[in-house]
Amino acid sequence: MRRRLVILGSTGSIGKSALDVVASRPDEFDVVGLSAGTRAQTLLEQAREFNVDCIALADEQHREPLTTQAPPGTHVFTGSAGLIELVEASQADLVLTAIVGAAGLPSTLRTVELGIDVALANKESLVVAGDIIIPLAAETGSRLIPVDSEHSAIFQSLQSGRAEEVRRILLTASGGPFRTWTTEQIQQATLADALQHPTWTMGPKITIDSATMMNKALEIIEAHYLFGIPANRIDVLVHPESIVHSMVEFIDGSTVAQLGTPDMRTPIQYALTYPERVDGIADHIDWTQISRLNFELPDETRFPALRLGRQAAAQGGTAGAVFNAANEAAVARFQREALRFVEIAQVVEEVMDRHAPTLHPSLDELLAADAWARDEVAACLAT
Ligand code: NAD
Ligand code: MG
Repeated sequence: MRRRLVILGSTGSIGKSALDVVASRPDEFDVVGLSAGTRAQTLLEQAREFNVDCIALADEQHREPLTTQAPPGTHVFTGSAGLIELVEASQADLVLTAIVGAAGLPSTLRTVELGIDVALANKESLVVAGDIIIPLAAETGSRLIPVDSEHSAIFQSLQSGRAEEVRRILLTASGGPFRTWTTEQIQQATLADALQHPTWTMGPKITIDSATMMNKALEIIEAHYLFGIPANRIDVLVHPESIVHSMVEFIDGSTVAQLGTPDMRTPIQYALTYPERVDGIADHIDWTQISRLNFELPDETRFPALRLGRQAAAQGGTAGAVFNAANEAAVARFQREALRFVEIAQVVEEVMDRHAPTLHPSLDELLAADAWARDEVAACLAT
């Protein structure tokens, strides 16, 4: 049976890889909706190639080519409300959430509210609003299937046992481009340095998050929500080769892992075809080329992000929203070269220190905490 698929964020790194997967299995998917932030031309090309009826562009300013060039009969939605209208109109079986940042939250929430299954790449939506999304999904029957490589690995490994048999999760991390750099070298790190990821090719925000290890901090919180495991039973293990995508240690002493080449098309495909496994388009591991796999503990002195992520997880309530939003605002400044690399974690810590978390927040309180944290980043840097 063909599955009706929507891809939110189709012009990004995950979105394009997902379309590669779909193109390799033309009999299995109907792409019924695509969305982009600003890149109207790319969105139009994708819509033509995959014969898509509904498209949405978040940025109204760039809508012009869509209204004049979209094939007749195409439904064009715009603005942040347009993303939600696209999901509502699509009658999708599965929505891949591949928007970057908390901007992906409203459309993720609407998908879950409608009881539609989610292939979840947009980890920020869970970090901000996991306390709302997870119970809502249980109520509506929407399944959250992880796309993040580590979470896909954990999801697959968890199939070896029962929830009460899990001792801990070992979340692997490449360590990013600064894994072997000294504190002094990291002080001098530039934007170009931070954008050189050793093993994965990804969008700019997550690449910078990998350099600070904020990505791993966000992933601890993501794993906590997806798998219902407390953050203090999720340990980070640095594994520079990015072959072991994560592991689950069970109470009997067995550790189960999922391995693969560092190619997002594998976990994306698994999320799209779950529970089936089908031929994959990514390279398989060539064991003649691998002589050793290395593991080391993370260094929280050089990478304070991990400690901050654990603090946000322990505080709960609005702390995740503040942690995420402060990081997004700091990374945006770093991308404009208006902030130094090491200042990202410093400003996030300062904003977190200024925040008194509200427990059991409503969605409005989470959105207000997000907006507050973004303003507070500006305020911290102004003083
Ligand atoms: P990207 O920057 O390459 O793409 C982001 C997509 O979101 C683009 O289509 C862009 O147009 C759209 N977008 C950006 N801002 C938007 C806004 N305000 N409103 C609506 N749409 C907007 O990012 P990416 O690397 O593909 O990452 C997407 C998500 O997947 C992130 O949450 C990231 O953490 C997660 N993820 C990515 C990878 C990876 O390999 N790239 C791996 C694991 C998880
Ligand atoms: Mg990941």
